[in-house]
Amino acid sequence: MKYPFLDLGKVNEEYAQDLIQASTRVIHSGRYIGGEEVASLEREISDYLSVPYVVAVSNGLDALRLILRAYVLLGDFKPGDEVLVPANTYIASVLAITDAGLVPKFVDADAETLNLDTSLLEAHINSRTRGIMPVHLYGRVCWDETLAGVIQKHGLKVIEDCAQAFGADSSVPGLYGTSKAGSLGHAAGMSFYPTKNIGALGDAGAIATHSQEIAQAVRALANYGSDTRYHNIYQGFNCRMDPIQAAMLRVKLPMLEQENAARRERAKIYNSRLKSPLIVKPNLTSFGVDQVWHQYVIRVRDGKRDALKEALTLEGVGTDVHYPTPPHLQPCYAAFSHLSLPVAEQLSHEVLSLPITTTTSLEETTEIAAILNRTAQSLYYTDET
Ligand SMILES: *Cc1c(COP(=O)(O)O)cnc(C)c1O
Repeated sequence: MKYPFLDLGKVNEEYAQDLIQASTRVIHSGRYIGGEEVASLEREISDYLSVPYVVAVSNGLDALRLILRAYVLLGDFKPGDEVLVPANTYIASVLAITDAGLVPKFVDADAETLNLDTSLLEAHINSRTRGIMPVHLYGRVCWDETLAGVIQKHGLKVIEDCAQAFGADSSVPGLYGTSKAGSLGHAAGMSFYPTKNIGALGDAGAIATHSQEIAQAVRALANYGSDTRYHNIYQGFNCRMDPIQAAMLRVKLPMLEQENAARRERAKIYNSRLKSPLIVKPNLTSFGVDQVWHQYVIRVRDGKRDALKEALTLEGVGTDVHYPTPPHLQPCYAAFSHLSLPVAEQLSHEVLSLPITTTTSLEETTEIAAILNRTAQSLYYTDET
């Protein structure tokens, strides 16, 4: 593939010297669970987000599910309570909700932002609604006046799924007056899965929260439910982040702003170069200038998404689909398959993600746009019969 969708080896090659040095430090430290490396990363993320409490955990799904379980244990949520969640998201958002014995209340997507349609929120709220999980999908912050208003009016707990948006800023301030994604609600789950904007060299995640109570509960839950050694207040889990991953992430965190700026540059190139009646580009205005483009997602019209993807592969351009099946249509969520979520369902047939990482150069990005224009043109004029 001349233009791979994502070359993770190349992404980390740029940091290789520092990563090797950091691994060496961990090897010689003799401390392979917890310790200073993990504590330092927690402090650094806390400073970066302006959130008082950060708990490093095993991955993004665990981050989200531990937060929700903590709310249940602390009595804020009761089993069977409903949590609003976008219908267009990665399934992990929903898995976290059902894992805690809570019920996902799917809110359809907005065809423009591809994100939760905040104008639909009010109609989905009933007496069992206790929380909302805004997902900053594709790196675009899901937070506006309408959303903030609904949260205030109904006293909802806000758990951000920040897996795709580390470093993004919101133009509307969060509940605590801060602006970084992950600092906007009461608590947030972050993922450092290797493909994310800041990726570990394996699984890793973090919880950020403004609540000391939640911080203490998730820290205990992630460590067998123990608050002090051999004293277990909860029936917990083992969901800790390894110091070796913390060390990798400490190398990459200072470079995050630069990485995200590079993604923005590539998004700008696509937006100015892509021209085809077959595709819909992300609207830069409604997407906001401060989003971090975890994915650059176009919509392909006329049922031509898969044909375009195939044609691009033949031209040496790797692409991906986020996501081909919405969570409510997955076999494991058959109980929700009757729901009508037309926009999310339509998006699953139309979305196509283009290469956006720093390892695709600006020049290559321009070339990819030209190839896409040419390929889309030929498909557009192909007679289906
Ligand atoms: C990646 C991702 C997760 C899960 O993170 P992991 O670290 O892979 O467990 C959750 N939600 C969204 C939106 C994601 O993209």
